[in-house]
Amino acid sequence: MNDGFERFDMRKPPINCRAFLKPIIWAGCFPGLLAHGTKIHKEGVEGLKPPYLLLGNHNAFFDMKVSAMATFPYFANYIVAIDGFIGREGLLRNIGCICKRKFTNDILLVKHLKTVVKNKGIIGLYPEARYSLCGTTAVLPESLGQLCKYLNVPVVMIKCHGHHINHPFWNTRRERKVKPTEAEMKLLFTVKDLEGMSAEEINTVLLKEFQYDDFCWQLENKVKVDDPDRAHGLEKVLYQCPACGREYRMEGRGTRLKCTSCGKEWEMTEYGQLEALEGDTIFSHIPDWYEWERANVRKEVEAGTYSTGELQVTVESLPNAKKFIKLGSGTMVHDMNGFRVRITGEDGKVYEMVKDVPSMYSCHIEYEYLFKHGDCVDLNTLEDTWYTYPQGSDFSVTKMALATEELYQDYFRKKGKPKPEGLA
Ligand SMILES: [Zn+2]
Repeated sequence: MNDGFERFDMRKPPINCRAFLKPIIWAGCFPGLLAHGTKIHKEGVEGLKPPYLLLGNHNAFFDMKVSAMATFPYFANYIVAIDGFIGREGLLRNIGCICKRKFTNDILLVKHLKTVVKNKGIIGLYPEARYSLCGTTAVLPESLGQLCKYLNVPVVMIKCHGHHINHPFWNTRRERKVKPTEAEMKLLFTVKDLEGMSAEEINTVLLKEFQYDDFCWQLENKVKVDDPDRAHGLEKVLYQCPACGREYRMEGRGTRLKCTSCGKEWEMTEYGQLEALEGDTIFSHIPDWYEWERANVRKEVEAGTYSTGELQVTVESLPNAKKFIKLGSGTMVHDMNGFRVRITGEDGKVYEMVKDVPSMYSCHIEYEYLFKHGDCVDLNTLEDTWYTYPQGSDFSVTKMALATEELYQDYFRKKGKPKPEGLA
């Protein structure tokens, strides 16, 4: 888009973290790990020296702090979304971060990763590319296996447990002081392993290793969360009532989740389970409820009926890492053809963003973004990010995210090229 805004320079190659910043980072990370009593279990990584690829599951910012301690005395070059850079581009570049716009194909990024390898660094990558919505594994890009082969360095995984429970994406207002939390750091592939494997075989292992469920972990480890507002915001992810089927009428307040349409109510226990106040609980495990919603969206997609209808939206843009710019307001439709946003800018010009189904395998959303705005869908081109805020209450950005994934899978199934389960 030629709108006259200065663009973030994606071409600048990454550098290794400046030596003087390392102690400052570690000093900043340590208190958090101490407060959470974080245990890091290591397997096969003793004596491992960079370069290597570090893959992490992604639930909260705390993931990066744990990872920074786990890789000590080295510090990884993390791939970070542009909104993480707002107002602090200099700092992030100096600690070696690499900027990417979410869910875009980016050849330049691969080139930057090769530079990290050449600099004998660690590539810190969160392949789920967003925080998990309900503490379970998000879809992984099919290109990951190929990337491992191409980089030709050992592949290490760091899988954290308890970070979603502590700071769930659907309510990030405050942490729940979960203690202890755990992380497993494990060598998945040596260079020799990679040489003997196909990209598909690598993906199969990655998929298996990436499985996690923070609510299961909480229950199994009897990790108590007694926060009196622990169910607040849960309606963001559990937007459909399993009792009456109605969407967008759930309400999480205090320790309870309620459907304001049929009146059914659940208590969220201190161990993260749901219990109906009356009658059948239907889903006690939050991820099961979420997967039921996904199955309903899939049915709409397969029937060809999925559509949000026309929603009124306001759009803010992030052409560079300095600040958001109010772009304008207009309409958005998400349906069987993907996303179409059409707005009239403050300058009177009409802007349009069209993201068709095969161009997005998943979609980044935000709840109560920066606590100033509402829920939004974040749509990206290689040059721009549109934070699109639907108005009113008859929509769910969670449903749009699920639909994006289901539409993508459906598209490839219909082409006779189905994606393996869990990959896109
Ligand atoms: Zn209901």
